[in-house]
Amino acid sequence: MYKSVIGLEIHAQLLTKTKLFCSCSTEYGDSPNTNVCPVCLGYPGALPVLNRKAVRMAVKAALALNCEIAETSFFDRKNYFYPDLPKGYQITQFYKPFATNGYLIIEVNGEKRKIGIERIHIEEDAGKSIHDSKTGKTKIDFNRTGIPLIEIVTKPDIESAEEASEFLKNLRQILIYIGVNDGNLEEGSLRCDANVSIHEPETPLGTRVEIKNVNSFKFVQKAINYEIKSQKEIIGSGKKIEYETKLYDSKQNKTFTMRTKEEMLDYRYFPEPDLLALKIDKKTVDEVKEEIPELPSDKIKRFMEEYELSKKDAVSLTVSKYLADFFEEVSSYNKIPIKNANWILSELLRYVKDIDTGFINPPVKAKPFAEFVKKVDDGEITGLVAKELLPEMIKTGKEIEVLIKQKGVEKIDSDDKIKELISGVLSENQKEIDRYKAGEKKLFGFFVGQVMKKTKGRANPQKVNLLLKEILDGK
Ligand code: ADP
Ligand code: MG
Ligand code: ZN
Repeated sequence: MYKSVIGLEIHAQLLTKTKLFCSCSTEYGDSPNTNVCPVCLGYPGALPVLNRKAVRMAVKAALALNCEIAETSFFDRKNYFYPDLPKGYQITQFYKPFATNGYLIIEVNGEKRKIGIERIHIEEDAGKSIHDSKTGKTKIDFNRTGIPLIEIVTKPDIESAEEASEFLKNLRQILIYIGVNDGNLEEGSLRCDANVSIHEPETPLGTRVEIKNVNSFKFVQKAINYEIKSQKEIIGSGKKIEYETKLYDSKQNKTFTMRTKEEMLDYRYFPEPDLLALKIDKKTVDEVKEEIPELPSDKIKRFMEEYELSKKDAVSLTVSKYLADFFEEVSSYNKIPIKNANWILSELLRYVKDIDTGFINPPVKAKPFAEFVKKVDDGEITGLVAKELLPEMIKTGKEIEVLIKQKGVEKIDSDDKIKELISGVLSENQKEIDRYKAGEKKLFGFFVGQVMKKTKGRANPQKVNLLLKEILDGK
């Protein structure tokens, strides 16, 4: 029986307007090589100036991940040659990172697991090579060189592909919550490398293989599972695992060797001479701490206690901070949180494209939505009618009160009126009545359906059921 051991290295782009060591814009998608200057192009003699906002965001992330913040840390040069690295080195923090020793608690299959965070460091991104398969040429865009990143390195505490994916999901959610990263895996503002090894329990850890750039929750799982399986086969056949870096090919669902141990790069790290030591004083740490909003795990707990929501609903509503805020605002108006949760999760979400950003500007404002749920709860309209009016509200921005009047869709609630409707339906369906009386009881639903259809969903369905039973069975 082998146990699998996984450690993740996650690069997250910090949401600053300007780069880490110069004032060039970080805007994604600008024309290639327009956001560049002597500093980020690595001209000799150009000096880096540290972006303090990036440092604050990095500290915020580290605090949210329960790290210790070093009062003094240093920048280092990581040297290697690659066309997209014009300086010939990347400025990073190697010997002494600004944050260490954190953790994140995740839950997988109902079990809580504490995943240690070894370190977080600040570094600059490299440029982007664009390979053109038609011409066989490679173009380089330097807009990305010098964009601020944090690298979050976990301890080898993760035990399965599922845990790795859950960790990544939780981490992404926290970074978005605290506003330091946009969580966009496709555009590469969040990137993940997975280190994987296997060993027999109670024996030292096995040699790891590092899989580079697995940029979706699904692929992280697949790549890790593929790698675990292949390592088991290698060891099973009596061979040894050698350290190597690999790439995951999602089309073939396989990992491929990128560099073997012999080809490993020696980065010859050395202290960055152009930057002072990074000082992060206690005052800054305290200030940043104050800026951290309530995080998802605390929110879930509070939503369950304060609003008596099920865990499932609490989890769903806290996926995005904006969604959670929307729910709370709605509930502050109408005081029927459980109903709000239902209507938001089962109906309103259908009209939102992207859950992460969809509630920055909600499709309906909280107050009219509260009014809407209240109208259903008070029985002024049926759920069926409400479902039809919701998209109308979203489209026109009209208040529910106005829409109800305009469309004449108030709930039909009077017993007499409903009895009258039932008689109407029954008189038109003598054949079905005979069949029903002959024992075909499932036709009951047909009659209910007819009444609802006649009233376009406006009749109180409970009453229709009740009265129909009385009339059909009571006779
Ligand atoms: P490098 O930068 O060379 O990849 P790091 O020490 O920065 O090295 O990163 C190592 C990563 O690999 C960490 O996430 C760590 O948890 C993980 N790791 C270390 N040893 C193992 C192992 N035996 N199996 C799986 N992961 C490991
Ligand atoms: Mg690595
Ligand atoms: Zn620049």
